[in-house]
Amino acid sequence: MNNLASYAVKTTKGRLHNEETPKYRSEFGRDRDRIIHSSAFRRLEYKTQVFINHEGDLFRTRLTHSLEVAQVGRSVASALNLNVDLVEAICLAHDLGHTPFGHVGQDELNSCMHKACGEGFEHNLQSLRIVDKLEERYADFDGLNLTFETREGILKHCSLKTAKTLGDLGIRFLNKTQPSLEAQLANVADELAYNFHDIDDGLRAGIITLEQLEEVAIIDEELKYLHKKYPALSGRRLHKELVRHLINKTIYDLIESTLSNIKKYNIITMDNVRGIIPIVTYSELMAQKQKELKKFLHKNLYKHSSVMQLRFKSATIIRGLFEAFVSDESLLPEAYQDKIASCGLYRVVADYISGMTDRYAFRQYNKLFTVENI
Ligand code: MG
Repeated sequence: MNNLASYAVKTTKGRLHNEETPKYRSEFGRDRDRIIHSSAFRRLEYKTQVFINHEGDLFRTRLTHSLEVAQVGRSVASALNLNVDLVEAICLAHDLGHTPFGHVGQDELNSCMHKACGEGFEHNLQSLRIVDKLEERYADFDGLNLTFETREGILKHCSLKTAKTLGDLGIRFLNKTQPSLEAQLANVADELAYNFHDIDDGLRAGIITLEQLEEVAIIDEELKYLHKKYPALSGRRLHKELVRHLINKTIYDLIESTLSNIKKYNIITMDNVRGIIPIVTYSELMAQKQKELKKFLHKNLYKHSSVMQLRFKSATIIRGLFEAFVSDESLLPEAYQDKIASCGLYRVVADYISGMTDRYAFRQYNKLFTVENI
């Protein structure tokens, strides 16, 4: 902690409920540990990233994704002398609020909630709801009672309407200013990690090929370099070496470009960080290359028919479950029925469904809608 840069987060503004300062770890280290011990964190193991986890044991899940984001976050944070514990806590918690079946689950639940009550569902806000309210493990409070700084990092974005209801946490959205460098970093680390591991998983699944990837500038450059350095390298080892090189190259660019931003914008204190310009960014050239890569992934991986078929099925399950629970609340587990009076039926149903793992959602759907084997 002694090596922290002058613009790093050093202390916390506090927690929702006052607690004594931890004796042998930092405040943010305590946040990280609480996140790792939460039920929502364990459930990430059985939630989809892009591929459903029973399609193959080696594909990413939300849990392995979160660990990889934390790894990227930690590496960059220590190179920049930022608060590593804080970055790690934010990275590990950033996807806690994800529904089963990845983004399609969120989109479907959002649309169900809009139609039913005019409120939406957003995984980012749900992550915050989990750490602030839904985890039930402490005698003194609901949620995990995390620090302001970790909560600020978890809430990557939100609407102005929601920001007005969030007190201190919403102010930066209303003022259109930036959060801590640690929060900015966790956000970029998320994107960096999933772009490259989606390439890795997409190649493994055979949905995209190395030849196809040559149309993306950043990959073409790396492949040319690898072919020259290792002319005999091919197959899986080439694919793995490629992904490793891409991650390294991108991380180096992120570190160097952020350091140059710090200099350029004369960032000295934490207050300087909270201006209108994001400081943790790629260089302009790298940002362009990442954009091109994202476009490629959208067209060739996320829209591939095998992924789309899965999306269709997943949306059907989420919609079916939502309609069933909303039409008859006695189908909900009793612990959830008990919360209807304070939270309202629709929010309780959204909490229940979004907390499900992929396989639990499958099972619930089959229980309610499959007529064989009654
Ligand atoms: Mg993520």
